[in-house]
Amino acid sequence: MPALQRTHEVVSLNAVETSRPRVALTFDDGPHPTNTPMLLDILARYNAKATFYVIGQNARRYPEILRRMVAEGHEIGNHTYTHPVLSRLGNGTVLNEIDRTQQIVWDIVGAVPVTLRPPYGSFSPRQQHMLFDNRNLSTVVWSVDPEDWRRPGVSVVANRMLRGARPGAVILAHDIHGPTIRAVPAVLDGIAARGLEAVTISELLAWPHWGPRGLRYVGATARASHG
Ligand SMILES: [Zn+2]
Repeated sequence: MPALQRTHEVVSLNAVETSRPRVALTFDDGPHPTNTPMLLDILARYNAKATFYVIGQNARRYPEILRRMVAEGHEIGNHTYTHPVLSRLGNGTVLNEIDRTQQIVWDIVGAVPVTLRPPYGSFSPRQQHMLFDNRNLSTVVWSVDPEDWRRPGVSVVANRMLRGARPGAVILAHDIHGPTIRAVPAVLDGIAARGLEAVTISELLAWPHWGPRGLRYVGATARASHG
C-alpha cells in the first residue's frame, strides 16, 4: 500500500466553509449485503454521490460492494476495523485499527481512504493530530446527525437529515438500517428542492477526485501511478 502524498492541511472537520451549493451525504458502518446495494440503486437514480465510511471487517466480507461504490463515483472512507471507541485506546492500537482497513480497501479497489470517521465521533484532538501527522488522514465528523440508529421512523430521519442541509454540511447516516435507506429518496428530493447537490467528502473539500485513478501517491506502484 503506497503512502499518500500530503495534499492538504486539514486535521479535522465537521463541515466545510463554502458558498457552493453542495452537501456531503455520509453512510457509516457498512457495507451491508442488501441495504447498501439498495442505497446504491437510489443514489444512481438521482445521480447523487456519497461517502461510505466502511468498517474493515464488513468491507472484507463484501468486496464486490466496495468495487461497485468506486465504479459508480462514490468515495470510501475509513471507519476502523472493529468499530471500537478510539478515545480509550493507545496510539499503536488506534493506528492498527485504521491501517487494517486502509489495507483492505487498497486490496479491493486499489485506492486508500483519505479521511477517517471515528466510531461514535469519539477521537480526541490529540489523537486527530497524531493520525494526521502519522498517516495524513483527516478526521471527518458531521454537522447533521439524524440519530437514525435509534430508528425513529422514515419521515423523521428524512426531516432531520434535511434540517441541516445547507452548503458545506456533512450529513451522517448509517446504511445498515432499512428505514434510513427508505428515507434517502425524500432526502435527495429535498436536497434538490433546496438547489443543493450531493457530493463526496473530497469533492466538498475541492480535493482531487477520490479513486484509483485520481490520487497521486508517494512511491507509486505501477497500479497507482496515474497522472
Ligand atoms: Zn459507526
